[in-house]
Amino acid sequence: MAGYIPIDAKKALKKLREKKKPVSISAVAALVLVLLFTVLFMRKGDLKLPECKDCGAYNPISPVFPGSLNKILNDEAFKLSSISHLSGAVQIPTQVFDNSPDPTGKKDDFLWRNFTVFQDYLQKTYPLVFEKFSFEKVNHHGMLMTWETENTKGKKPMAFLSHQDVVPVDPTSIEKWTHPPFDGVYDPKNDYIYGRGVVDCKLLLISQFESLSKLIEDGFEPTTRPIILSIGFDEEAMGSKGGAKLAEFLYERYGEHGLYGITDEGGLTAKTPEGDYIGMVIPSEKGYVDMFITLDSTESGHGSIPPVDGGAIVIMSKLGVSLYNDPYEPTITTNNPALEFLQCAAKYSPDYLPGLSKAMKSKSQSKLLDATSSNLNIAYLFKTTQAMDIFNSGVKANALPEQATLVVNHRIGLHSSVNATKDHVLEHVLDLAKENDLSVSVVYADGAKEVVKPDGKHGNFTVTLYSSLEPTKISPTAGDALYEIIAGTTVNTYQQTLFNPHGNASVYVSPFLSTGNMDMKYYGKLSDRQYRYTAALLVPDSNIHTVDEKTTSKAFLSSIAYLYQLIPNIDAMSADED
Ligand SMILES: [Zn+2]
Repeated sequence: MAGYIPIDAKKALKKLREKKKPVSISAVAALVLVLLFTVLFMRKGDLKLPECKDCGAYNPISPVFPGSLNKILNDEAFKLSSISHLSGAVQIPTQVFDNSPDPTGKKDDFLWRNFTVFQDYLQKTYPLVFEKFSFEKVNHHGMLMTWETENTKGKKPMAFLSHQDVVPVDPTSIEKWTHPPFDGVYDPKNDYIYGRGVVDCKLLLISQFESLSKLIEDGFEPTTRPIILSIGFDEEAMGSKGGAKLAEFLYERYGEHGLYGITDEGGLTAKTPEGDYIGMVIPSEKGYVDMFITLDSTESGHGSIPPVDGGAIVIMSKLGVSLYNDPYEPTITTNNPALEFLQCAAKYSPDYLPGLSKAMKSKSQSKLLDATSSNLNIAYLFKTTQAMDIFNSGVKANALPEQATLVVNHRIGLHSSVNATKDHVLEHVLDLAKENDLSVSVVYADGAKEVVKPDGKHGNFTVTLYSSLEPTKISPTAGDALYEIIAGTTVNTYQQTLFNPHGNASVYVSPFLSTGNMDMKYYGKLSDRQYRYTAALLVPDSNIHTVDEKTTSKAFLSSIAYLYQLIPNIDAMSADED
């Protein structure tokens, strides 16, 4: 725990008494009081709040290319045509599955052929975009699209990421959908557009094509830097075939820090209970590691003679319980972008979390952690989480299993690391190994093996690390040119009549943190400016990844309108930047 030095008052007092020098009673009393105060009030350490820009201090950027902004937000025909394009995209089920084989690009590549259909659809729907942008396929289905003009040659491009794939629909859940998941139905009565992927991530992908198509139609052309669309096809399955390959390809072409900036899916703009808006721009992601813990037991055999230790299932269950009972400690560090978000909420939306404003004023870490504990989405921004997602063992009612496997999924807090997470798990594994005479080894993500405890008569624990990812770097926020353009464009978008009909809503912009990972995790070396943010209006019941995934036309239009302004704003306002 950062900033927390445990103080044992009794021991301190004993030491004082042992000292040979005479100490006056009043001096001892004063020291005891100081120690008591320290123990009572500083257990979790005082918080040093970061000096950050007020989230309400961003001025709207009047768009440098106003063009069709009004039409995008207020024209019924534009709305219906863009919805029909999104609906068409949803109708092509670009589902991606875990452990899918690599794409071959061949016509009979059954698993991936929908991606070819999807790209044909984009080409047919957005001919203007494909006329201006070059289109390269990376690893068969990754889409790399580049718009370079005479003036932008040799300049650092601005990259916009998204992904074509969607999480699969569980066939047993289809009955529960209001409209079939791959029909892309728009219901004007409640303004919902339904379908798998309508939020994640086709809303962003289609918004990019809609806004660019309109910009081209209206005569916009980049003059400062090339524009890149980098669109993966397996983001929902770790992105190793799509996002990772696209990032590698871009790195080969542009080199370290070769991109001016990058945006990806992630943060949205939420409406506060007060009727204001807050754009949550995400400059960093938590880390990640899956741990496959396998116990190979020699205590297997006939079910009629169970071993004293209970066998593999009992020991592995004990491990699960022991990990569960030892959750990771939350820690608020001043560099955590979510702390700025809490400062913003405490000032402008005091009812957001009960007790938040008071806790923030007290500057006490423990009080602030108490205030966040009522909302897991917020609480988890300050700690590593562990989720037990798979448990496998046993095949026969009368046979003790040879093996048990537990898979624990971790999202690593900004203050921690893959190694610290591994150590935490290993501590529990070693305790059980000693208790039950088992050996222990660790297999790292790169395949290296380490024997941690060599001897064990009753079997062996293997802890295997998969998909390990350290928490990402934190991109600059207030004061950085790109961040300020993103913030000012957000403010201008939500000051438009569609979102702010009475003109009295405020628009705040704050950094936030992501508990999940996106394709952007592979782009670390390409730019220091990485923002997971689409500015789209948050739809509270959007049911992302589950039954009745849905968005609203308002959310969709907010995303198109924002990008329609952002692209020319960056082109014009980032001119002096490297
Ligand atoms: Zn996504």
